Amino acid sequence: MTTVVIGAGHAGLAASRLLTDRSIDHVVLERGEIANSWRRERWDSLRLLTPNWQTRLPGSKYEGPDPDGYMTMGEVTAFLSQFAHLSGAPVRTNTNVTSVTRVDDGYHVATSNGDIRCGSLVIASGACNLPSVPSIRSSIPP
Ligand SMILES: Cc1cc2nc3c(=O)[nH]c(=O)nc-3n(C[C@H](O)[C@H](O)[C@H](O)COP(=O)(O)OP(=O)(O)OC[C@H]3O[C@@H](n4cnc5c(N)ncnc54)[C@H](O)[C@@H]3O)c2cc1C
Repeated sequence: MTTVVIGAGHAGLAASRLLTDRSIDHVVLERGEIANSWRRERWDSLRLLTPNWQTRLPGSKYEGPDPDGYMTMGEVTAFLSQFAHLSGAPVRTNTNVTSVTRVDDGYHVATSNGDIRCGSLVIASGACNLPSVPSIRSSIPP
């Protein structure tokens, strides 16, 4: 495998599209589903803070009737899912990357579905995705 991309959010899917455009073989490893952060780590009433016209990925942009509107969570996940589909992104869902180790000719990537060797790596696993819960939690009543 030439390249492994970790994460199927905006960044990982954009990287995948650019790799495909250059005929670079790769796989996108995603611990959950495509757009997992938006499916699992947001709240139902949230809308994007950025207007629809700003929502762009390589070769794809918002084409709907409301460029000055703000996407709902359902619209964000649909936009990303459609982008992944149209790009033919080689996403392996439910594959959690548990470690990455530098080896002579690239990287050894350990996952919940087996190990992969690759020459290069794109880490697109998002921000703030390990919870940090302060110790004061123990003094808060249920
Ligand atoms: C509440 C909130 C509101 C926001 N609103 C906006 C907005 O209005 N406009 C805007 O432009 N941006 C907004 N952002 C920022 C937004 O998160 C980014 O723009 C964008 O989603 C980041 O994409 P990403 O691909 O970097 O990360 P993510 O979308 O988080 O994707 C990372 C992916 O990596 C996967 N992953 C992580 N670790 C592993 C692992 N070990 N193995 C396998 N897979 C893994 C995750 O499951 C996830 O699918 C908001 C963020 C938050 C938290």
